[in-house]
Amino acid sequence: MHKLASDAIATLAEQTCKAEMRNYGPRFSGNPCGRPIYSAPEYDVQPVCIMHSKDPNKSGEEFQREFERILDEAEKTETEANFTGFIFVNSDFHGRAFNSACSFFRVEFSNQSNFIQATFNGDADFTLAKFAHAVSFTGAKFERHASFYGTKFGCDASFGLAKFAEDANFAASKFKQEATFVDCVFFQSASFREAIFGQRAEFGGAQFSQTADFNAAMFTQDANFRDVSFVGDARFSRAVFSQETLFRTARFSGAAVFRDTRFRHDLSTKPGLDFTDVKIEHPEKVEFYRTDLGQALFHNTDLSKVDFTLVQWRDRGRVQHYRWRRRWYCLRRFGAIRGRKVWLKRWELLSRLVRPRVYRLCLFDEDVALAGIPALRLPERQLAKHCLSDHLASTYRQVKQDYDVAADFRTTNDWRQLNTRMRRFYGRFGWAWAKLAWALRSPNMMSKRNYSLIAETYQQLKRNYDAKGDYWTAGHWHYGEMEMKRLHSRWSWRPLRWLDQHFSLVALYKYASAYGESYIIPLLWLVFFLAAFAFLYPVPGIEFNPPPGNISAWLGYVDWTTFFHTHPAEHPSGFWGMILHSLMTSISVAGFQRELRYVPSYPWGRMLALFELVLTTTLGGLFLLAIRRQFKRS
Ligand SMILES: [Zn+2]
Repeated sequence: MHKLASDAIATLAEQTCKAEMRNYGPRFSGNPCGRPIYSAPEYDVQPVCIMHSKDPNKSGEEFQREFERILDEAEKTETEANFTGFIFVNSDFHGRAFNSACSFFRVEFSNQSNFIQATFNGDADFTLAKFAHAVSFTGAKFERHASFYGTKFGCDASFGLAKFAEDANFAASKFKQEATFVDCVFFQSASFREAIFGQRAEFGGAQFSQTADFNAAMFTQDANFRDVSFVGDARFSRAVFSQETLFRTARFSGAAVFRDTRFRHDLSTKPGLDFTDVKIEHPEKVEFYRTDLGQALFHNTDLSKVDFTLVQWRDRGRVQHYRWRRRWYCLRRFGAIRGRKVWLKRWELLSRLVRPRVYRLCLFDEDVALAGIPALRLPERQLAKHCLSDHLASTYRQVKQDYDVAADFRTTNDWRQLNTRMRRFYGRFGWAWAKLAWALRSPNMMSKRNYSLIAETYQQLKRNYDAKGDYWTAGHWHYGEMEMKRLHSRWSWRPLRWLDQHFSLVALYKYASAYGESYIIPLLWLVFFLAAFAFLYPVPGIEFNPPPGNISAWLGYVDWTTFFHTHPAEHPSGFWGMILHSLMTSISVAGFQRELRYVPSYPWGRMLALFELVLTTTLGGLFLLAIRRQFKRS
């Protein structure tokens, strides 16, 4: 009797689903599901109910009925609709309103899911849920807390135009394909902490009304934060951005922290962080700490008060592969040298190879063509709205891609690529936009960078580092600023522009003392000119200004032997003697000496002397200025 009863209880227990309905870690275990068993042993290892069954052919009708019942009951009793661990085969909730709190905890959506324009009036909990296919929350409204903690998006996930009235938690979520948050509005804090974006992440036009937490998030492809407005703090510490990161025309109203953030660092010519046209309301709250900004673009963003600490900047020889190519070329030549004085030539080659490169910091903006061209803006918002009507995430994605084609015109360096893009662009957007694109494509626009704009950025950086007391780095920015001033030319005709760039006053300033940053260069020029004039003076000749009792005479290349014959007391004599006397004259002229033993002859020699005086005093001045610059601040 007892045995029978216990058997009956055992079979009864076996007949209900044991899947746990809630599971918050090991200590908090939920109740078993308790629904009758649905038999599909080829899909379910443990016998479970139809809601928990992984059978792809399970009756959608029955599933739907139970789903609606749970929802109804939750609405009536004002409790949570609990769908923990359910397997959704069909999930089309387009425009659906969920009036009670919903728990989609550990739910699996095995097909495409559609939550377009759905409204969640209670908490929406998608913690640890799995979307095996594309899911779209485009235009959805989350009136209460929304949790996507640890949620896995196996395909495209679209949250375009969604509104989060309370906290949105996407921490530790994984987006295997593209993640779209275009024009999303987060009315309270949003967390993407430690989220992983396997493909491009689109946040264009989104609005973060409170803290936006992207700490330790990982972006394996391009990340787009174009036009995003961060009203609260934006945190990107320890985040990894492997490819292009656009913050173009973004707006930061609170703090922005990039501590130990990793941006693209692959020594290619492609930009990593794009921080151009960014509006910063409190620049002192924007912080870059221990980040590599070697491939970052900054023009048109006010950097004068932004905090840069232990930041690694680009130096002018950064594009490594060029250097390696040069080394390889030299090495091949080293072996190929033949003929007389082989070792001398090889020595020359080697010395050129090991000569230290001038180390100077610069901005990446200098390397990117088309910098400073006003942003080409497509009505992104309209595109997004257009896509609401046809519910497919893929369409949205395509439109987004086209939008990026437009953006690419600003940064691309590759002509052939540009051409094919052009054609695609014309096909999609018609004449008006294509015309603009053609304008951008014209060679003048391609080769002419907006140097004055970059110069402004350099100036701000100089001020920034000067204020901090880092004069060494500030010197590099000064150099960059002057370099941009040199390259900026108002001529559009190429030869004229070239002349302007290489022989203007600023260019001469560069050759003479590296814009006042080097005191070695003017010193070397000084020595060079003193020697050069020593050889020049004997051409028009120098006149012997004799001590009393001697006859004056003339000394020059033409007839120096007679002079030393008639003046045997003049020592040293001979050709080199003459050069030495000339050198003394040259030094004396530079040193403002009046009583000279040998005077440059009138009129050409005097003219040379005047010329030398002007040159050497200028160089001397530059030398003193550079010295002062090096030592005055410390
Ligand atoms: Zn169950």
